[in-house]
Amino acid sequence: MYYHDFQVVLQEVPGEISLCFSISGCPLRCEGCHSPYLWKEKQGTRLTCSLFHQIVYRYKGFAGCVVFMGGEWHRKKLIKLLKIAKSEGYKTCLYTGEEEVAPEIRTQLDLLKTGRWEAARGGLDSANTNQRFTEVKTNRNLNHLFTKNSMI
Ligand code: SF4
Repeated sequence: MYYHDFQVVLQEVPGEISLCFSISGCPLRCEGCHSPYLWKEKQGTRLTCSLFHQIVYRYKGFAGCVVFMGGEWHRKKLIKLLKIAKSEGYKTCLYTGEEEVAPEIRTQLDLLKTGRWEAARGGLDSANTNQRFTEVKTNRNLNHLFTKNSMI
């Protein structure tokens, strides 16, 4: 698994400072994709368990959540990394363009954004969006956190 970039972000998970990894190799090819540089596999830096552990350890106590932008196509590796994040006390979140993810991934997540990009319907801040931001434990739709604050 390779990541194209790593950023500390404030908007992807409302109320959290998050460590955000954008994973290379997205297979979905949404029309009007905002990040086509993520389509190609092996772009950027290899995200080994040890590198990931170093990063999450460094930000422990400052950031509260780890967000993966994609990566579900590397199921086993993603699960390993999510477990590391949880073991260091982070909440976990996945942004995927899919409608659902494998149960083994889902059980490692606190938050899940599903739904591909459809320009005509907009993102999570649009009342007409096809996308959903879910609190996994309760299956609650949390899209209102984005529309209220116009955060994305
Ligand atoms: S899921 Fe996201 S990164 Fe992948 S093609 Fe769609 S918009 Fe682009």
